[in-house]
Amino acid sequence: MVHKLPELPYGFDALAPVISAETIEYHYGKHFQTYIDNLNRMIEGSPYEDMGIDEIVMKAGGSIFNNAAQAWNHDFYFQTLSPVPVEMPENLETALTGAFGSVSDFKTAFIKSAATLFGSGWAWLCQDKEGHLVILPTQNADNPMTQGLKPLLTVDVWEHAYYIDYRNRRAAYLEAVWNIIDWHKVAQRLI
Ligand code: MN
Repeated sequence: MVHKLPELPYGFDALAPVISAETIEYHYGKHFQTYIDNLNRMIEGSPYEDMGIDEIVMKAGGSIFNNAAQAWNHDFYFQTLSPVPVEMPENLETALTGAFGSVSDFKTAFIKSAATLFGSGWAWLCQDKEGHLVILPTQNADNPMTQGLKPLLTVDVWEHAYYIDYRNRRAAYLEAVWNIIDWHKVAQRLI
């Protein structure tokens, strides 16, 4: 099957000033598109040709894994951002408070994990098989599903996600992006 760039649920300028239209133009329009294009080129005639992206992420290695996982991760990231503030639903607030002490403690721990991740990668909130919430940083394209975890939230901390708007200030990007997370979508993913 030919994979297509998923549509954004908002306009290119809808997340400004937290994320500018120029960043979306490059990050979504070029980086994300390139992962999709590479994936389509690489799976042609391979055992992965007829698989969905989730299945490729779980089964492939090397360059095919990298491009499939980056496609998955970017879709998840962009779908979890909102141009209008979304209040955190009570079930998520309760779960985060139970796991991390408070929503504020979760924010501190999540941002610390994302800010201190060395090099390129992603910061995740996941749920393990017992339902426990865990914060997980992953390198490069890595995706928590391959570790048996269910992703609930991710923030992209590759430099291309923030360099146009924040230059080297990754922590400032993380603080700002916090305010445009669609907590309703995060809550819906809780098992
Ligand atoms: Mn990215």
